[in-house]
Amino acid sequence: MILDIKTFPDKVLRKKAEPVIEFNDELKLLLDNMMETMRANSGVGLAAPQVAVSKRILVIDTTQAEEEGSLLRVINPEIISEEGEQLGEEGCLSVPGEYEPIRRAEKIILKAQDENGKEFTLEAEAFLARVIQHEIDHLNGVLFIDRLPSYKRDTLKKAIKRRIAEGDYIVTGME
Ligand SMILES: [Zn+2]
Repeated sequence: MILDIKTFPDKVLRKKAEPVIEFNDELKLLLDNMMETMRANSGVGLAAPQVAVSKRILVIDTTQAEEEGSLLRVINPEIISEEGEQLGEEGCLSVPGEYEPIRRAEKIILKAQDENGKEFTLEAEAFLARVIQHEIDHLNGVLFIDRLPSYKRDTLKKAIKRRIAEGDYIVTGME
């Protein structure tokens, strides 16, 4: 099932997501739906808060972007080490149509659990490391635009407001 993606400035994107404790069928169904939703939107990653589920769950698919891409279901992720620096353009399904260069660690070691609760570690670098860092930010209520210098962030927010007024940007979760 394809789920609705929440967009900035929806408040669900700002909550700190809760750890997953039960590894059950409900979790597996959510992971399947997140994979389907990510693919339907040509995304390389999706975090559960983006579909209004405030839990520490990610899906990642870099198989279209890289020759030896990765397809990952990641629960309760934690970056246990990081090294170096890279600067590259990022976008986000929750901030559609906006792309900006963002600084990230070049190499990371990820510790997480799979959909059955089994722990694993993964060394990632370059593009995959960037995607993982971007998605983990979502679990902490952080968007890539928060990592921009303040003048750029202000310009981008103004641009989004203009797009909202023009009907070119769909806002979710407004009160
Ligand atoms: Zn994102």
